[in-house]
Amino acid sequence: MVNKMVEIECLACSKAIKPRQLNDTDNYDAENYDGQVVCQECKSLLYVKSVKGKVQKSKVVENKSIRSLKDIAELAEEFEKQRKKEEREGNTQ
Ligand SMILES: [Zn+2]
Repeated sequence: MVNKMVEIECLACSKAIKPRQLNDTDNYDAENYDGQVVCQECKSLLYVKSVKGKVQKSKVVENKSIRSLKDIAELAEEFEKQRKKEEREGNTQ
């Protein structure tokens, strides 16, 4: 058995990761994997295609390393709601 870990660079956070799907030959067709992996560092979803143990293709499916603008807007809205609620509650006393 060749004990060499397959490493890929996460396209979202640029860290080197060793996806289980490319290394766990007992549970996956690691040599010829074609599917999604999750970055252990930033939890982004990546698509990877490997042929004969060599990574041919990889791309970001869902980038979790950076908060999207929508997330930030939602957070701001939540914060504002919470602030108004506290204001109201403060006024009744
Ligand atoms: Zn990552």
